[in-house]
This record gives sequence, C-alpha cells and structure tokens, in this order.
Amino acid sequence: MLVDLIVPCYNESAVLNMFYDEAARVVGSIDGYDFNFIFVNDGSADNTLDIMKELAQKDNRVKYISFSRNFGKESAMYAGLKNSTGDYAVILDADLQHPPALIPQMLEAMEEGYDCCATNRATRDGDPFLRTFLTRRFYGFINKISEVNMPDGAGDFRMMSRKMVEAVIALSEVQRFSKGIFSWVGFNTKWISFNDVERAAGETKWNFWGLLKYAVAGITAFSTFPLKVAIYLGSLISASSFVYLMYIIIKTLVHGRDFPGYASMITILLFLGGCIMLCCGIMGEYIAKIYIEVKNRPVYIIADTNVDKPQNDYGR
Ligand code: UDP
Ligand code: MG
Repeated sequence: MLVDLIVPCYNESAVLNMFYDEAARVVGSIDGYDFNFIFVNDGSADNTLDIMKELAQKDNRVKYISFSRNFGKESAMYAGLKNSTGDYAVILDADLQHPPALIPQMLEAMEEGYDCCATNRATRDGDPFLRTFLTRRFYGFINKISEVNMPDGAGDFRMMSRKMVEAVIALSEVQRFSKGIFSWVGFNTKWISFNDVERAAGETKWNFWGLLKYAVAGITAFSTFPLKVAIYLGSLISASSFVYLMYIIIKTLVHGRDFPGYASMITILLFLGGCIMLCCGIMGEYIAKIYIEVKNRPVYIIADTNVDKPQNDYGR
C-alpha cells in the first residue's frame, strides 16, 4: 500500500524542514505502508523550492512539483491529487498545523473500510477571535443555503482512498472550493478531531479580504440561493407597496389630497435603487464565474518537477 502526503507550500522555507522531519519521523514508525511526499511549490518567492530539491536529493520518496507562479492553495491541492498515484492520499499544510501524528489514526479508519478520514478542529485557539466568529457565521450560512454540508472547523486535512481522489479530480472546475467538493463527492467519511495549534513558523497567507473572497467563492460555488434573492425581495416589496397603495387610496378618499411627501419619496427611491443594484451585483458575481469557467484555463502550470510522469492540466 502506497500513501501520498500532499503538501501545498507557498513561502514555507521557515518550516519546510521542520515539517519534513516530523512527517518522516511519524511515517518511519508505521509498518506495512510505503509513503511518498508530494510537495507542491505554489510559486514561492523564497527558497522553498531549493529546500524541496535538497530533500529530494537525500530522500527519494520526496517528489516536488513547482508551479510557474502562485496559483493558490486550491490549485496546489488539485495538482497534488492529480499527480498522486498512491492507494491513499493525505493533504496536509506545511506549517505543522495539521499534525502528521494523526496519520496512523487515519490509516486505521481506512482499514476499517472508510473511503475518507477527515479532520475537524476541536478548537480555534490558533486563530484570532474575529476570524473565528466570522468563520462560524459563514458555515452556519453556507450550510443553510447550499446543497452540501460543510461542518464548521472542517479543514482540507484528510486522507482519501484512490476512488475518492479520482472523484475529486473529476470535478475539474477552475474555481475550486475543496471543502464543498469533498462533501459533494460523498463517500463514507470518518471524522476525527484534533486540537488546533499555531503555525510552527512563518506567516499565514490569509488576510481579511482573502477570507471574504473565499467565503463568497464558497457560497457561489455550491449554492444558487443568492440568485433567488431578487425573487423574494421583489415579492416582498411588491406586496408591501400594494398594501401601502390601498392605504393611500382610502386615506385620500377620506381626508382628501395632501401634498408633502418628499422625504418618503426619496427614501423609497433610494431603497429600491439599492435593492436593484444588489440583485444586479449578485447576478454579476455568477456571470463572472461562468465567464472564468468557460475560458477553461488550466488550474495550474508546472515549471519544474521530479515526478516521473507529471500530470499537467492542459487537456482539461
Ligand atoms: N498555501 C499555498 N498557496 C497559497 C497560500 C497558502 O499553497 O497561495 C499553503 C501554505 O503554504 C500552507 C497552507 O496552504 O501549507 C495553508 O496556508 P496558511 O497556513 O497560510 O493558512 P492558514 O493555516 O492560516 O489557514
Ligand atoms: Mg496555517
């Protein structure tokens, strides 16, 4: 049995050696399985690639795939999965926030017959308060309006069988939202929790805007509910306008005409204008997604690798 450890890396020179030592230590203590490392260098600006090459030189289980530029973690995970040949594949972060020590437990789950062993973070101690709060709200919202169920705290750290890996890469959309994809493909999944830790060294690549964009991407990728907002909003406004119209007619019949109404007029105009623009904006968001998707550009471009038969993404 062969297990691929897929590790997306973007500017991880500060932790990559630490990660390798820890992961090699863990897999060294597991009998009955062979392990390969697939490091994906996602266009790092530091010497992450040099470290990967050094590791590959001293350990022939180390494979690296180096992108032509930064394509994002989603692309890096996809490239890793496309180039994985093992019976099982596990995706982990380079910063040791996804403890390799859980691998034996994941293998046990696979032996029990599961196709996937996924993890969720029991705590979010490594994250700032506001991020935790907003993340919780996001998961509450997306689970309500989308066809898939994404547990809060579920990360990309998971082990998958070959069957599931094939299914995940068959969903070859350019704008990938892996959490949704993992859930959409289904399969028997065992959930295990682990305690959150801070990254071992280096810096997180996320900022507020990045996370917000990610949240919008997740919602638009797995739900068409926002497109229907116009229907609900429109119905609500029409219904209340009708009631208001009746009120005005009766009032005019009883009390006669009155003139002033500038303030209410302008407020209603602005409110309606806002609603219309909001709905246009939502539609625009989906049209933009369609536009990018129909261009069908490759999700990643490999510039350098030591994988025997590298799988690029050109013939999508
Ligand atoms: N990463 C990547 N490409 C990017 C950003 C991040 O491959 O454009 C990798 C990064 O090297 C790390 C993992 O994705 O292995 C998670 O990134 P990070 O630790 O910055 O995110 P966080 O743990 O804060 O969610
Ligand atoms: Mg991290």
